[in-house]
Amino acid sequence: MGDCIFCKIIKGEVSCSKIYEDEDFIVMLDAYPSSPGHALLVPKKHEDNVYSMDPKLLEKVSPLTAKVAKAIKRMSNCQGINILQNNGEAAGQTVNHFHVHIIPRFDDDNITMQWVCEEMQEGQIQEIADELIRYL
Ligand code: AMP
Ligand code: ZN
Repeated sequence: MGDCIFCKIIKGEVSCSKIYEDEDFIVMLDAYPSSPGHALLVPKKHEDNVYSMDPKLLEKVSPLTAKVAKAIKRMSNCQGINILQNNGEAAGQTVNHFHVHIIPRFDDDNITMQWVCEEMQEGQIQEIADELIRYL
């Protein structure tokens, strides 16, 4: 946590292109954007990932994400927007301080977010659903 780049940004020790701030969050532009306007919503209080986020704080994430997405859309006339949030190295998380990506997309951009769709045997998806329900 002492080495967390986002905590350093929040403390003002490292500069960033901040576009929004309130008592709980900052929103800044990604320093290595996937496309122009790629923004990161970051809580001021360090949490590694979604698992430890306070549900009350999470309630504020969606409205602010939507506000930023609408601003990006108005500014850039993008054709689409990806909103994504990585948890853990296996999911592509490189900065272990919770954040949401808001990424403008254009018909001719070269961003790829593809995954192979797995074939499931009949009933297998329902089996997984039945198991998962027990964990909710
Ligand atoms: P993730 O891979 O989901 O953990 O995303 C981390 C994001 O943080 C990446 O898109 C990086 O480009 C971005 N990033 C890393 N360092 C900085 C920084 N100093 N300022 C702004 N964005 C950063
Ligand atoms: Zn941090």
